[in-house]
Amino acid sequence: MGSVVRFAPSPTGRLHIGNARPALLNRLHALATGGRFILRFDDTDRERSTEEFARGIAADLEWLGIRPDLVVRQSDRFPLYDAASDRLRALGRLYPCYESEDELERRRKRQAARGLPPIYDRAALKLTAEEKAAAEAEGRRPHWRFLLDHRRVEWDDLVRGPSHIDCASLSDPVLIRADGTYLYTLPSVVDDVDLAVTDVIRGEDHVTNTAVQIQLFEILGSGAVPRFGHHNLLTTASGEGLSKRLGHLSLAMLREAGFEPMAIASLAVLVGSSEAVRPVGSLADLAAIVRLDHLSRAPAKFDEHELDALNAKLLHETPHAAVADRLKAAGIEGGEAFWLAVRGNVERLSQASAWWTVVTGPVEPVIEDSAFIAKAAGLLPAEPWDETVWTRWTDAVKAETGAKGRGLFMPLRLALTGLDHGPELKVLLPLIGRARAAKRLAGDVA
Ligand code: GLU
Repeated sequence: MGSVVRFAPSPTGRLHIGNARPALLNRLHALATGGRFILRFDDTDRERSTEEFARGIAADLEWLGIRPDLVVRQSDRFPLYDAASDRLRALGRLYPCYESEDELERRRKRQAARGLPPIYDRAALKLTAEEKAAAEAEGRRPHWRFLLDHRRVEWDDLVRGPSHIDCASLSDPVLIRADGTYLYTLPSVVDDVDLAVTDVIRGEDHVTNTAVQIQLFEILGSGAVPRFGHHNLLTTASGEGLSKRLGHLSLAMLREAGFEPMAIASLAVLVGSSEAVRPVGSLADLAAIVRLDHLSRAPAKFDEHELDALNAKLLHETPHAAVADRLKAAGIEGGEAFWLAVRGNVERLSQASAWWTVVTGPVEPVIEDSAFIAKAAGLLPAEPWDETVWTRWTDAVKAETGAKGRGLFMPLRLALTGLDHGPELKVLLPLIGRARAAKRLAGDVA
């Protein structure tokens, strides 16, 4: 049976390159195992979650080539969480606590002063019914903690290998706030059970949650616990973490800047792995290369400059069919011949437009030796033109003037394109056509 994976962003911002990593790793894992990919919006925080961010995230994923098999929202699923918390309460594993943040903070300070770790002391477990009633009468509302089993939790991490956490070193986690809202921990497990998720792949900032969640899975999932994989996190080149609000590395901004989605995907996934960072043309190809156990334990440094080079390399190998629609939309009609001619000269697809202008004009010719150019103009072959015209013409010019090599080609290039560099004229010249070429050779802007 194929795997079931999920990517679970909170719609409180747009995706950046750092959270593209779990999105992609999950998608690739599903592709490699013939599995299904669920997009789950973790929107239990109703104040900060917005519909607009959710739509934006879906669009960001779509742009990366990730089409979910199923989309769910936690805000539609509260009855499931309520039922799970009732069950935990009935089992004595969810208990009410009345301490305020200030009280907890004072307690942590006292513990620190005595050299103790800041672990919640379970004082609320000892409250009598009268004490609880008194707290309620004072208008206090409880928050609810999960009573951890103080034992070592072990799992075989898909990325990190055999892993364990001693739960005696953790505070009983708060699952429900005093205002009744759910923190991330419980809904995530309830959904993973309900949606039969088999593989939970996420950043290593969730390792501690995993120990807690495995205990919850054991209770709520009838003993079935998914596999877990915790990937290393992306940092900036200088080693800082990427935050969701970091604008310029958002997928939306990178897209706007003209980067190719597969350049982003290749870098986001291959950096910090044992695979060489290189442009890969499709998610299916990437899925064949990437293995979770090839990811390194060290943070993966994301270098924007590497992205420029990768984008260029990717375009240099991109077949026409993959960009045909976008070239057409940009008003470029040159078809495959044009794309194959210019792709080696572009770092971003948008630069193809400048080369299209070289074909269709207006181009300001640069003519240094007008006698030479006039002679060359007189030798322009008659139409029809194909890819042989450039060689036929330059052979004739060479025979007539004795010019050769750079001395032959550069003046012609400058006159025809106004530039001293660019794609092969063998392909460009037939696209420019005889009429425009003749005008430019006569020194006219055309
Ligand atoms: N909403 C959580 C986050 O974005 C999901 C973590 C998980 O994959 O379980 O960190």
